[in-house]
Amino acid sequence: MPNPASPSSNVTTDVVIIGGGVIGLEIARTLAQRGVKDVTVIERGRLGQEASYAAAGLLAPQAEADRADDFFRLACRSRDLYPDLAKSLLEETGIDIELDRTGTLYLAFADDELDEIERRYEWQTNAGLSVEKLTLADARALEPWISEAVHGALLFPQDIQVENRRLLKALIAANERLGVRFLTDTTVEFLNHEHGRVTGVATSRGLVSTRNVVLACGAWCNFIKTSEPQLQSVPIEPVRGQMVCLRAEPPLTRHVLYSPRGYLVPRRDGRLLAGSTTEHVGFEKQVTTAGVHSILSHALEIAPRITELPIVDTWSGLRPHAPDDLPVIGRSHDIEGLVYATGHYRNGILLAPITADLIAEAIAGNVQPDLLAPFAPDRFSLVA
Ligand SMILES: Cc1cc2nc3c(=O)[nH]c(=O)nc-3n(C[C@H](O)[C@H](O)[C@H](O)COP(=O)(O)OP(=O)(O)OC[C@H]3O[C@@H](n4cnc5c(N)ncnc54)[C@H](O)[C@@H]3O)c2cc1C
Repeated sequence: MPNPASPSSNVTTDVVIIGGGVIGLEIARTLAQRGVKDVTVIERGRLGQEASYAAAGLLAPQAEADRADDFFRLACRSRDLYPDLAKSLLEETGIDIELDRTGTLYLAFADDELDEIERRYEWQTNAGLSVEKLTLADARALEPWISEAVHGALLFPQDIQVENRRLLKALIAANERLGVRFLTDTTVEFLNHEHGRVTGVATSRGLVSTRNVVLACGAWCNFIKTSEPQLQSVPIEPVRGQMVCLRAEPPLTRHVLYSPRGYLVPRRDGRLLAGSTTEHVGFEKQVTTAGVHSILSHALEIAPRITELPIVDTWSGLRPHAPDDLPVIGRSHDIEGLVYATGHYRNGILLAPITADLIAEAIAGNVQPDLLAPFAPDRFSLVA
């Protein structure tokens, strides 16, 4: 199949995926692998340059979890798909997505935080999950740079990390090999439907006809208009996250270091990522003095010696957030052929493999997987 960067004339395709972030790219790959012949990803700008590029790459559902709910189970299942995903992408593309399985060290600095990690340790141990309790001495034996003010720590050996920018590169290459069509610098403006069924999308460069559309456009989902009857409202809003990138050569830490206020993520090339902020400021992507100040103060609390390290980069991204903090994944109940895959908020990198699996099952197998029930898009109209 030809792979044009933009449509010069109208295109017909089996599935349109709106948005070329980690969610759209992983869905496209999975659909193509499951035999859907003609998949088109439409991306407003360049592929993989928004939230998915800004992320820290943590695959850490256990570190912050206080119970085993539907979301926790979904997140753990997705995390556990990563080793196979990394292996497959290496075979398909030759790109190593740098899945690092050293684990995550969660640090407590005050008595109430110590109580919190104690409770987390208890329930996760009782649930048969892998977690170890460490004293300051244990933790410093693992990571000598952490602060002496640490009261205690949990080690989560299965909470791992991935180099999300390499993941995006690998997903793009894998899709190209599978013949997925990319229409970049092309904005989807309108979703067309007739008699309750998707018929296509109107883009800034022409019409694309299709019977299946996946909304994977992250924080921007609500900008896509429809003809009457209007779509149910899925209230996705952007939540800005800023990041600061330091350079630590030789590396300062092997584990991801996590506190209730921030984290430090070591990358193989000597970068050390410090994150993040959670800001409701609309579609504003600036990096601010206040943001950098807050990230660095939380990073310094974790490892005071980072004062010696140079700052080599800063950036920000817009997380797609639904009011109940949960992802929005599944078929529309208003329009046949329309599927949502958004609202992944702080966990889109983590949730990409399971989202893609379940969406592919929904489209290629024409079923609604049970696992998706708690994340269905119609939960907002039900509440209203
Ligand atoms: C600072 C920060 C740190 C994070 N850390 C982590 C982490 O450690 N672990 C984790 O799991 N998650 C993390 N996240 C969250 C994660 O990045 C997101 O949940 C995930 O990237 C969402 O992926 P997406 O594909 O839905 O969105 P995006 O990557 O934003 O992609 C959406 C795409 O849709 C395109 N688009 C929008 N509208 C249109 C349109 N009308 N037509 C065509 N294209 C359109 C956009 O241009 C964009 O490329 C972090 C996020 C931030 C900001």
